[in-house]
Amino acid sequence: MDEAKLHAQVSAHLTELAVYIGSRPTGSEGNHRAGEYIQQVLTEFGWEVETQRFECLTWQAGEAHLTGPGPVFALTPNPFSMAFEGEASLVLLRTLADLESVGDLSGQIAVLTAELSQYSYMPKNFPFFRSDDQQRVIHLLETKQPAAVLGYLKSPLFCDADFLLPSATIAPEFAEVVQYLDGQTVHLSISGRTIPTDGYNVVARSREMDGPKIILCAHYDTWFDTPGALDNGSGVAALLTLAGVLDQETYPLELVFFNGEDHYAAPGQVAYLSDFYPDEAAYVINIDGIGAVGKHNSLALFGDDPFLFDAAYRVQEQFPNLEEVPAWYESDHTMFVQQGLPALAFSSANAYDLWNVVTHTHRDRFEQVDIEKVVEVVQFIEALFAAVG
Ligand SMILES: [Zn+2]
Repeated sequence: MDEAKLHAQVSAHLTELAVYIGSRPTGSEGNHRAGEYIQQVLTEFGWEVETQRFECLTWQAGEAHLTGPGPVFALTPNPFSMAFEGEASLVLLRTLADLESVGDLSGQIAVLTAELSQYSYMPKNFPFFRSDDQQRVIHLLETKQPAAVLGYLKSPLFCDADFLLPSATIAPEFAEVVQYLDGQTVHLSISGRTIPTDGYNVVARSREMDGPKIILCAHYDTWFDTPGALDNGSGVAALLTLAGVLDQETYPLELVFFNGEDHYAAPGQVAYLSDFYPDEAAYVINIDGIGAVGKHNSLALFGDDPFLFDAAYRVQEQFPNLEEVPAWYESDHTMFVQQGLPALAFSSANAYDLWNVVTHTHRDRFEQVDIEKVVEVVQFIEALFAAVG
């Protein structure tokens, strides 16, 4: 397919996902609409499409307010937070050592700052990977039982229905003002509703599955309140475009549009592993967060497959702007790598400065994605298939 056509397709898919549909948290209305769009595109390209349904929880946002002996602050309720309404004194906690040494916190509101409030916390029961330090913080909070937990970040500090304390996130620009409230009594309210619902993965397969399957995947869910252009409208747009380019007669392909990479329980990933993983697979290619404006695309290789990796290196010579980066263990390739499958993962290089600043926030809009760079990944994968035969 010529470059102009690829460009038009990527742009159309990304517009549908990140502009018309917008946020697509697993089980939400936007999520179902995105799933339907993906099925429709795949069907038009002549794929056999299957949906893999699962039950899950979604969340309807409420509001959060902190009223001190001064101004009222609007906070962001963390998705899946329990509701809260009441008076309590604030206690600021800066380090893990602070949290270890502080006594029982019941009747107080714990405000996590400094090193305790740098990143969104991994869900406490996340099935694929966990951070020991974060698990320790979560465990200490649940043991010391504050009335609520607050922290500073541009995206929600917690997004976890298994975390059983009311929580909300304060915009970083209010950090200094809230410091003055240390030890003072404030009024806090947090509202929102957790709702049981369902979601599904969309899986398309070549009609002739001769030999071990090749899995190409991208997750189509987003965090709450983000159009999810970069994370991961870009990857879905690339995979949908590839669905029209790759020849299903030639390759035993399984295209998996995962639903749950940004959900605390990864329900789509868990369902996929239990139903489909026993099928024999050759390798996996995951696309997540490609084409960030001002960054190069990145490729990371996992496991051991000299034939595939040699082919990838040869193809890379035609794409000098695409950077090889060290293996990184997040996103959907990780669960396959843990099972011993070789994997390639495409993303954006050195994009750490976008985490929780653009990605997972309302700023992750269409303009954050360079369509040319999404096309570059489509062309790379097309060339890779030609190289491996
Ligand atoms: Zn992602």
